[in-house]
Amino acid sequence: THAIAPRSGILDIAPYIGGASHADGVAEIVKLSSNENPWGPPASAVAALERAARTLNRYPSTDHLALRTALGEVHDLDPGRIVCGAGSDEIIALLCQAYSGPGTEVLHTRHGFSMYKISALAAGATPVDVPETDRRVDVDALLGAMGKATRLVFVTNPGNPTGTMLTPDELVRLADGLPADALLVLDGAYAEYADDGYDGGAALVTERENVVMTRTFSKAYGLGGLRVGWAYAAPDVIDVLNRVRGPFNLGDLQLAAAEAALHDRDFVTRTVSETKRLRGWLAEALAALGIPSDPSSANYVLARLADQAEAEACEAHLRAEGLLVRKVAGYGLPECLRITIGDEAACRRVADNIARFRGQGV
Ligand code: PMP
Repeated sequence: THAIAPRSGILDIAPYIGGASHADGVAEIVKLSSNENPWGPPASAVAALERAARTLNRYPSTDHLALRTALGEVHDLDPGRIVCGAGSDEIIALLCQAYSGPGTEVLHTRHGFSMYKISALAAGATPVDVPETDRRVDVDALLGAMGKATRLVFVTNPGNPTGTMLTPDELVRLADGLPADALLVLDGAYAEYADDGYDGGAALVTERENVVMTRTFSKAYGLGGLRVGWAYAAPDVIDVLNRVRGPFNLGDLQLAAAEAALHDRDFVTRTVSETKRLRGWLAEALAALGIPSDPSSANYVLARLADQAEAEACEAHLRAEGLLVRKVAGYGLPECLRITIGDEAACRRVADNIARFRGQGV
């Protein structure tokens, strides 16, 4: 117990567990546990960061206009409907702070990202865990769970850790079924890795005032350490988020580096297409070992082992070789391991070591 008790709900928060970044006794690790871009950060972003460092005596921009304008150009969106945050994590937290609270519900799906629940509890709201079916968001289950108290519905598309996608029709059904006071949040952290043409739900946001899209520089842009995310939403929602966010939530280093990365189309195009190629290669290599995975639309593959014991043994075997992959029992997938697509050498090493692990019949 705590000497001074925080508000109710806070002690129900299970602290966020990130991907492992070291292995005991192994000097050289290959980190395939946090869905990072193995070819980042882009050199253009590092150069911009160094230039921006020269004026660090000044406070940063409060309105992020330059970055929002660049986002608007690249994605063909109105910069007035964009808000930037310290990672999409901050956007998720701001949405919960502003739209949920005691007596209200925040819906998330069984295998969805853990920050939805953490941010809902931090805001005093009740998180509602909605089941998925065969590692896919279940639209009917979500529609059935919506009610008068629902304020936010978080859907990760492509899903993390599943890598599966909802169809455009399913997204429309979800938006159509929203209760009066609720927002549908489409978390597009991995949208760049989906089929060409997926816009993260942007067109749906343009059409409806109750749909929000969140995006990040942490994955395809190779800038997880920078902490820049953004949301595209109706002007009312943007106005609300601008009222609750800190005025200097992004520093000049972040703003400058993100803007440079955004203009570096070659980096994103090249690394996303290489990731897609290796994703197909790894899925086939696993299938050849008798390990199934769903077709992935993200920069990882969710390998399905026989059961939790085998998944844990396989993860430990890989860790002993310095290969870090993610156990996802906490996301309701105890028999699975999520393997981030690394460079070609990393993909080959992980496949070879899983083959050796299976061969040993551990
Ligand atoms: N949403 C999803 C689905 C994620 O996987 C992550 C990163 N793990 C985030 C949001 C948060 O990303 P960031 O705060 O780095 O933008």
